[in-house]
Amino acid sequence: MLGDTAIFCRRIALAAAAACILTIVILEMAGCGRGRVVVVDDAALKAADADPANWITYGQTYSEQRFSHLQQIDEQTVGRLGLAWFADLGTLRGLEATPLVNDGVLYTTSAWSLVYAFDARTGHLLWQYDPHVPKDHAKFVCCDVVNRGVALYRGRVYVGTLDGRLIALDAKTGAAVWDVQTTPKDGPYAITGAPRIAKGRVIIGNAGAEYAVRGYVSAYDAETGNLIWRTYTVPGDPSKPFESEAMRRAAATWSGEWWKAGGGGTAWDTIVYDPETDFVFFGTGNGSPWYDRLRSKGDNLYIASIVALRVSNGEQVWAYQTTPGDNWDYDATQPLMLATLTVEGQQRTVLMQANKNGFFYELDPATGKLISARPYAEMNWATGIDSNGRPMENAAVRKLKDATIVKPSSAGAHNWHPLSFNPVTGLVYMGVLDATSIQAVTSGWKINLHDQTTGLDRGYVGPVRKQWLTLKPAGKLVAWNPAAQREAWHVELPDPGSGGTLSTAGNLVFHGRADGKLRAYRATDGKLLWEFDAGIGIMAPPMTYQVDGTQYVAVLAGWGGPEVLGNRATGKGKVAPGKLLSFSLGGSATLPRYEPVVQPVPMPTFKLAASRPEIETGRVLYATFCARCHGADVVSGGSVPDLRYAPAGMHEKFEEVVRGGALREVGMPSFSEDLTPAQVRLIQAYVLDRAHESARTEAASR
Ligand code: CA
Repeated sequence: MLGDTAIFCRRIALAAAAACILTIVILEMAGCGRGRVVVVDDAALKAADADPANWITYGQTYSEQRFSHLQQIDEQTVGRLGLAWFADLGTLRGLEATPLVNDGVLYTTSAWSLVYAFDARTGHLLWQYDPHVPKDHAKFVCCDVVNRGVALYRGRVYVGTLDGRLIALDAKTGAAVWDVQTTPKDGPYAITGAPRIAKGRVIIGNAGAEYAVRGYVSAYDAETGNLIWRTYTVPGDPSKPFESEAMRRAAATWSGEWWKAGGGGTAWDTIVYDPETDFVFFGTGNGSPWYDRLRSKGDNLYIASIVALRVSNGEQVWAYQTTPGDNWDYDATQPLMLATLTVEGQQRTVLMQANKNGFFYELDPATGKLISARPYAEMNWATGIDSNGRPMENAAVRKLKDATIVKPSSAGAHNWHPLSFNPVTGLVYMGVLDATSIQAVTSGWKINLHDQTTGLDRGYVGPVRKQWLTLKPAGKLVAWNPAAQREAWHVELPDPGSGGTLSTAGNLVFHGRADGKLRAYRATDGKLLWEFDAGIGIMAPPMTYQVDGTQYVAVLAGWGGPEVLGNRATGKGKVAPGKLLSFSLGGSATLPRYEPVVQPVPMPTFKLAASRPEIETGRVLYATFCARCHGADVVSGGSVPDLRYAPAGMHEKFEEVVRGGALREVGMPSFSEDLTPAQVRLIQAYVLDRAHESARTEAASR
């Protein structure tokens, strides 16, 4: 039900949407801008910039700039910012969502695709929805059981779930209205990205290119949940008819029997709708398997590409491939953003992306033509972009004999973490990771239809690894001038990893970090103005809203992802129970401190006879199947059990757990299709050997 004031405010907002500053002044004078009832419809989504009290879509507006006009919290007042309230989300897994706010209600997701609605003023829980994702679907997720948030539309909340469903909920009650499977049921696909709404359609992609899958994007009718269109990103089996001319063209850039491993190219994160062109833009991931020699010769369209579709029918309009024939997991799925810039004296609208591969791209949204691409991070795989928009590759890096050190790493110089653009400073604010990865190809690779099938030799311990271990990753917050394509300022980070950013008209940029600090900087020059120590690593982007005249800044704090699970050096961050935090001026709430007690590794009592060569085989199997969650070298990153601590009782039923799925309910999948009982025994021998070694070392150091 719309109140009179709400209708009035809404009319002003729509009438004056074109001149946004004026709109805000009028709305403030009229007593609007307090998170009043706004029905999130097409008009409201188009005019989202004129209603800064609410944050009704993932990137705040269709252009996804994440720039708020609110300025109660500004460079003068931010020193008084304090915690207004917090809510426990009961998980040790990564939290990546952007909360949405409408009409005083904050909607967010958590790990395992749980959805929450809170009173945005108090943090009082209004409802919670659990889609009951089968916990063993964690096997089909490369990078933690995360979710990046919901979409709002006409009184409903839309969420994509880890097991590939798209669900519409009643925004008032959290009751499910419809629930559709968007991926092959129980197949190795997942959804971690937030849906977007365009003209009554819910647009959703999926993840899974570390597995044998074929990427696609789907549009569903928001009202009914009926599929309207589905557009594949890579060609299927050429003995069957191609779905489109685009797929026929793409097939000419593949060779061999690529479709048997699916081809990959999943659209697992960014989706941006542009009302100007009526196009939907998204990015596609790596090919499956990762390495061109295992997959196919050629460019392999449209993997690692930025793609535009017509929203009406899903027809491909243009595509720009950022990493032809990708060989390094250089997904092009990072956040896309539309902005008006003055490029060489001319005002023009550009589609921007800080790509995993280290280039900052600016494309013409109407044609996909490259305007410019400049490195924003160090790289060794390419030296620049030629006049045809093609990267000039370093052939030695692609050649990959024994193993190769590649920069940026497969985590990307920038990844899914949302960035923000401040049109006043003209700067884009983003976390940048300066790291390398070691790429080694498995010998005798065969497609695995039941598990990851990247072709990466995860057990590689050859000479290149020694060199690689000496290369320390680093991270920074960078303010990038996209008009000039150069860095304006940066701040070094104590830990390499960091979260997304928020920009505001208060000349502020907010940024969360791996060490648990949420910080506010002066947007113009990077001067630190405020800091809050959450004691929980922050990967998610902050957002802001206003209710009853009070501006809040909210962020999810929860550190996870592949670096934590795999316990890789690039991901050191504070793992602690996840929370939703909301700040306002004068806020005085305090967070309970979380001090995990680390017990010494006990000397295992369980006996299992194994030779050195058997333990070595167990090490390679562990690295291939177990390390991605339980941690490299059997040292957990903190969110999944550390197997060195497994008691004798657990070792007695080791095979029951690993092959039999005895702990399926808590997220430990069955590996019965991947591992024989004898192989499980070798893994167990290696785990016990590592526990012995740790216990001995720790006892000696006491
Ligand atoms: Ca990938």
